[in-house]
Amino acid sequence: MSAEIISGTQMRKEILAELEQEVVRMKEAHGKGPGLVTILVGENPASMSYVTLKIKTALSLGFHEVQDNQPDDISEEDLLALIEKYNKDPDIHGILVQLPLPRHINEDAVINAISPDKDVDGFHPVNLGKMVIGGDEVRYLPCTPAGIQEMIVRSGTETSGAEVVVVGRSNIVGKPISVMMGQKGPGANSTVTMVHTRTQDLAAHCKRADILIVAAGVPGLVKPEWIKPGATVIDVGVNRVGTNEETGKAILSGDVDYEEACKVAGKITPVPGGVGPMTITMLMKNTVKSAWWHLERK
Ligand code: NAP
Repeated sequence: MSAEIISGTQMRKEILAELEQEVVRMKEAHGKGPGLVTILVGENPASMSYVTLKIKTALSLGFHEVQDNQPDDISEEDLLALIEKYNKDPDIHGILVQLPLPRHINEDAVINAISPDKDVDGFHPVNLGKMVIGGDEVRYLPCTPAGIQEMIVRSGTETSGAEVVVVGRSNIVGKPISVMMGQKGPGANSTVTMVHTRTQDLAAHCKRADILIVAAGVPGLVKPEWIKPGATVIDVGVNRVGTNEETGKAILSGDVDYEEACKVAGKITPVPGGVGPMTITMLMKNTVKSAWWHLERK
């Protein structure tokens, strides 16, 4: 048996095409499209490349995109004032502050300063609280967990009544996706177990999973014999395991022994090309959602 590959690269294309159409309709109805500001502090190379990709994607969809680069030594006070400026800007519907920030700036203070109405990363405590309440309260889901759920649903995997095991309990992946899959509603209604480094017999839990979501950051952690035959496996891990001598680029690997897992799983995400491309896609989706909300509220 060889697992069906759930391609994030392909799903990204489909979702971006859908969003592009929405932006056209929005511009026809309101004379303007979604506005996104990306705030980058300093020159961290990884952050610069993430921001560049976000800007490129936003522009390709026809967004009004503002790139606001700030020096490494900007004071927390000035950064908070900048955020407040964009909170009030009617042409901006999404505010993205690229993390991590320099040490002298309190990240929580920055996240809390973003208006929950424009928090398209879904990191503000108000939006995380709404995510936990669920139902109509949900505003912006955090992007990586939203991408994971979207992949599960679009792959045709049944979630209702499914045993979901999530490896990892971080605030950005493990905890939110555990809550989301356990909610009442479509694409959820699962029975969720969240496991971590203190879990006894990790393998036994993984083996029960109809849907196994792995976000540990440990290459090859999940062995093929831990996978229930036919299960859907979502590998969130992105680990640098070497460098390609010809291209000089990093060789990436997930948290699952991919080659062997393909022989057991029913469906599986690759690394790279799996969850990775979905995160920015979900950021775009949140920004479009925010724009509709801002433009259509009375
Ligand atoms: P994190 O904050 O380091 O959390 C890792 C979690 O995994 C922790 O809860 C930890 O348990 C658990 N864990 C680690 N080793 C384990 C083991 N041997 N057995 C059981 N549990 C273990 O990581 P994160 O931010 O969630 O990221 C996880 C991975 O996903 C990373 O590789 C990251 O690069 C990747 N990622 C990808 C995307 C994307 O593709 N867009 C986005 C975010 C993250 P404890 O709590 O007990 O320490």
